[in-house]
Amino acid sequence: MEGLEKLREGLCFLDTYQFGIPRYGGVYILYEGGEVALIEAGTSLATPRVLGTLGNLGIKRATVRYLFLTHIHLDHAGGAGTLVHELPEVQVVVHERGVKHLIDPTNLLASVREAVGKKFPLYGTAVPISPDRLIPVTGVESFRVGKLEVKVIPSPGHAPHHVCYFLPQKGEIFTGDAAGLYFKGQLYPTTPPPSFDLERSLETLDRLAALRPEVLLYTHYGPGKDPARLLKEYKEFLCWWVKKIEAARVSFGDEWRALERLFSDPEVERFSYRSDHEKGELSMNIRGVLRYLSRRAA
Ligand SMILES: [Zn+2]
Repeated sequence: MEGLEKLREGLCFLDTYQFGIPRYGGVYILYEGGEVALIEAGTSLATPRVLGTLGNLGIKRATVRYLFLTHIHLDHAGGAGTLVHELPEVQVVVHERGVKHLIDPTNLLASVREAVGKKFPLYGTAVPISPDRLIPVTGVESFRVGKLEVKVIPSPGHAPHHVCYFLPQKGEIFTGDAAGLYFKGQLYPTTPPPSFDLERSLETLDRLAALRPEVLLYTHYGPGKDPARLLKEYKEFLCWWVKKIEAARVSFGDEWRALERLFSDPEVERFSYRSDHEKGELSMNIRGVLRYLSRRAA
């Protein structure tokens, strides 16, 4: 099936063509011993594709037990509500701080609208999830999918309620947005408002490295096969990225002038990973750091 990659026995990665772009965002399908779990939901626009793929794989909807969300940003969790309606047994695993936003997504939708501006329609929507379908976690829990253990790893930084999922028997970590974006062998920032935090991110990257994974499974996009190097590189990159933005903020005084100047800086521009979206995404990642810097200064 087009856009579906089998990564190993019992693990597939589905391209959701997020924002209409190939190999930009995906959903992992984990199946073991007759049980199935999804890692990430994609936006609500991805739901028909996820359901269609389960059907093509011969997976019965009632066998999907868990939907593991790394965090509640709409490109990861927007489709959770629509999936819950179609998957009768699924329980949604999410950090306890994200729970209320999935029960009532009004504020979540408003904050995404603020962060992404006119790109908002590309993020779909979010429908409310009933509390009895949600499993709040803090980062110490562990689940079973067949014989496989799935450990929840706290991973704040990109967002305070971010968690990763670690499969110790396989050495796999589903990194969500905690370890950056990974396109064609190159790392890119994901440091959006309102809550990006450098110190928390660096601690998270150390925590992930200490698990000694064999592979990082990025939501954006796919497997990264040299985890120690990738985690170290993203740490160094984040430190550089924040310093670079801080320097611009200091020399231009006001944030908008700093932002404008950073846009035309070739060192920064090379981290706009998308051609059509580029300024929007780049701007979002710069604004997240600016917001972090003002919070730190306060
Ligand atoms: Zn995110």
